[in-house]
Amino acid sequence: MSDAVIRVVGLGKSYVTAAGLFPALKGVDLEVRPGEYIAIMGPSGSGKSTFMNLLGCLDQPSMGDYFLAGENVAHLEKDALAQLRNRTLGFVFQGFNLLPRMSLQDNVALPLVYAGVDKETRRRAAREMLARVGLEKYAESRPNQISGGQQQRVAIARALVNKPRLILADEPTGNLDSHTSEEIMRLFGELNGEGITIVLVTHEPDIAEHAKRQVRFLDGQIINDHLTGAAA
Ligand code: ADP
Ligand code: MG
Repeated sequence: MSDAVIRVVGLGKSYVTAAGLFPALKGVDLEVRPGEYIAIMGPSGSGKSTFMNLLGCLDQPSMGDYFLAGENVAHLEKDALAQLRNRTLGFVFQGFNLLPRMSLQDNVALPLVYAGVDKETRRRAAREMLARVGLEKYAESRPNQISGGQQQRVAIARALVNKPRLILADEPTGNLDSHTSEEIMRLFGELNGEGITIVLVTHEPDIAEHAKRQVRFLDGQIINDHLTGAAA
């Protein structure tokens, strides 16, 4: 049996549009091993977000198979899938996606609410994760009281709060200046050093250089897959 964190076989996704079915992803094969750090690259419209949304179980494929931590996602009931997703992966978005009316601590704790964890345990876990990303002192602040880079660190803390083995991030530095982007990439590097598998999308070569493997998309297909200098 394969111990791949992610294995996709012939994965495809077509969107229904006014002009008919649009094939955004055309049969992709990929295996991600524990501890890998992969940058997904490719031009705008090449299917990167479509692919990431499938990996994050945020959308369903039109064809092919997706095995997450060895489980065929298509064969799971809704609740079982939500549980698998919750305990296996954390997702980081380009736009941070924090809830504006909640404290940062409550934002970070949110996945634990869905997991049915009690309040005191949630509080402790959220504090621990905020400390992990260097923002413990802002626990009671709201998202609009901190910078964009800090908001993305909070979003990463939220992605980490269930202690997932996999982090998926879709252009996590897309809204950040280059200095702040480097800080976020340093954090991803540390997390990967701790054994967390990372798959992130970027269209910036500088950012992708932090990853150990680069996978390039074009027109809904993988056209290149290679290890980087950081792999050694
Ligand atoms: P990327 O993230 O690489 O920029 P996307 O996966 O967002 O690419 O999009 C791939 C293609 O699919 C694009 O041509 C885009 O317009 C199309 N697309 C994405 N989402 C939808 C949708 N919900 N409905 C119709 N077409 C979509
Ligand atoms: Mg995209």
